[in-house]
Amino acid sequence: MFENLTLWNWLTIASFVVNLITMVLVIVMVKKKKSNVVEASTQVAASKEQKHAKVSGVVFCRNCGKQYDSSQSACPSCQAQRLKG
Ligand SMILES: [Zn+2]
Repeated sequence: MFENLTLWNWLTIASFVVNLITMVLVIVMVKKKKSNVVEASTQVAASKEQKHAKVSGVVFCRNCGKQYDSSQSACPSCQAQRLKG
């Protein structure tokens, strides 16, 4: 009877410890996931900014050096063709 009681006590303590470890693990995982999401969103924003700069930016004419929008294929001042890529 006494041995059974200690066995049940140990089982209770063990399950309590397992529950504690699981809770700590879940909390750590949630915190890691949150930080990963923040990092990923920052990277997405940075890549979007880079793409945006590539799509509509300002270029300098290789012929006369005038500044014009990259959406234009030729310099509006001297009509020199813009090098693509
Ligand atoms: Zn030009």
